[in-house]
Amino acid sequence: MINDDLAPVTIFHGLILDTPEDPFNGGELRAQECALVVTEGVITFRGSLAEAQKRHPSATLTGVDGVLLPGLVDTHVHYPQLRIIGGLGMPLLEWLEHCALPEEARMADPTHAQAVASEFVGGLISAGTTTALAFGAHYAPATDALFRAAHQSGLRMTAGLVVADQELREDLHTTPERAASEAAGLIETWHGKGKLRYAVTPRFALSSSPDLLDSCRETLSSRPDLFFTSHVNENQAEMAVVAELFPTSSNYSDVYDQHGLLGTRSLLAHNVHPTDAELARLGETGTAVAHCPSSNSSLGSGLFPLRRHLEAGVRVSLGSDVGAGTGFNQFKEGLQAYFHQQLQPDGVPLGPTHLLHLATVSGARALGHADVGHLSVGAVFDAIEVNPPSGTPLDAILRNAVSADRALAAVFANGTSADIDRVWMGGVATHTRTPE
Ligand SMILES: [Zn+2]
Repeated sequence: MINDDLAPVTIFHGLILDTPEDPFNGGELRAQECALVVTEGVITFRGSLAEAQKRHPSATLTGVDGVLLPGLVDTHVHYPQLRIIGGLGMPLLEWLEHCALPEEARMADPTHAQAVASEFVGGLISAGTTTALAFGAHYAPATDALFRAAHQSGLRMTAGLVVADQELREDLHTTPERAASEAAGLIETWHGKGKLRYAVTPRFALSSSPDLLDSCRETLSSRPDLFFTSHVNENQAEMAVVAELFPTSSNYSDVYDQHGLLGTRSLLAHNVHPTDAELARLGETGTAVAHCPSSNSSLGSGLFPLRRHLEAGVRVSLGSDVGAGTGFNQFKEGLQAYFHQQLQPDGVPLGPTHLLHLATVSGARALGHADVGHLSVGAVFDAIEVNPPSGTPLDAILRNAVSADRALAAVFANGTSADIDRVWMGGVATHTRTPE
């Protein structure tokens, strides 16, 4: 038994929903009115309130009025693009040229970068995202500012300097040597510090020379626990350019494969248009894919072939892809993932349990975190309380829901940041919608 005198203990009590078992493999929604004992940020007991209070009579009791969910996981989001969310009406390459990249170039100004870093981290947390894989900036000081803001907030974040040395605009270019030395500096400062990890991040194959990708592989192999992320097969015009630039690669993801960049610590965003051979190789190597449905719809990139990914054994998680995506809200990404499947003849029928799993455990596992994304004993208490403002439609729906399943579906259909009342990270209350 834990001695309450030595460690701060909190008991959380209310309706708790999570998906510890994979619903794509028979798992069901775990919906329990129960208590969690949280000791130094970790769940040490799950069961009845009476038993929790008997074990910890002096613990603080926190009642949850709405629904308690695990903190959400966003596995693909671009920090420099926060202020250009909503650039509608362009396909990928035009959107990059006219909307995203001019904004990314502004990150050369450290004052601008610091302001955006704060807005970015705050935006994620208030949307209920407690774990993220984020693209940094093309500039090391701006990427440093992101790590600093995340560290101060308690956000569990994997991120890295974005590198490119061809195509795009020249003020975003680096060299293989500079990419390696700047990454080494950021890794030294931030990798493994608190809840931060470093991800080697070439923007995409299109903007990467073979020498730059070799430099990325060398950085990736410099430590065993670094992560890798980039983009793949997002848009057919983009894919055609990649095929021209890399004539010896058999397909898009083969560019990364030829440079030793696939594996269980690699995650590629989008993969809307993969070949069967690519899916087989991604499954074989354990490479994960971030599905970013809002972005895919907004840029007209296409409908995500989830069934083919599942059949090939490819791990799939969710990403907001801000700023091509339309906000940080992972409930919206879940809903859009559902829409993508509804609109395809061979789409996978997704229920609310699938959506919660994709927004929590799937992302956590894709990032190698076994102890977040669910609320079991031994897990870190990263959690959110969905408690809509009184009088709103979602409030009325939840108060009258006939089942936990229907309540969860309603959260995905209706929920926004405004419905997230409290956010805890590592047991610490980090965000409150309505400060007392
Ligand atoms: Zn992206």
